[in-house]
Amino acid sequence: MNHTLSTQLVEYASQFSNPVIKLEDLENSRDSSGWTGVHSWPFSELQQFITYNAEKEGIRVEKVAPENTSQECSQCTELGGRDGSKFKCPHCGYIRHADLNAAENISHRGGDPCTA
Ligand SMILES: [Zn+2]
Repeated sequence: MNHTLSTQLVEYASQFSNPVIKLEDLENSRDSSGWTGVHSWPFSELQQFITYNAEKEGIRVEKVAPENTSQECSQCTELGGRDGSKFKCPHCGYIRHADLNAAENISHRGGDPCTA
């Protein structure tokens, strides 16, 4: 499953010009994502597959700091909270699917090059 997933992801990314795939740096993560089992092997294996497949296609992969990617508001950077699957910002009122809000935060962050 991880192999198929990573192949599809890299295929998807390759349609853009100068794509960069950003991944949370799980090695330095202290369970900030709120996902239980985020350190489990299928997850790091998935990252290895993604990095390997992306390198074959010449796509850059970066690791970004995982702190507060789920808690931060992607619009105003204040800390908000999850309400089920929704992220709600108490500061600016931004409401978004929590996973998409986290993905936006990851995309805004600068990362370090990641090599397989
Ligand atoms: Zn906000």
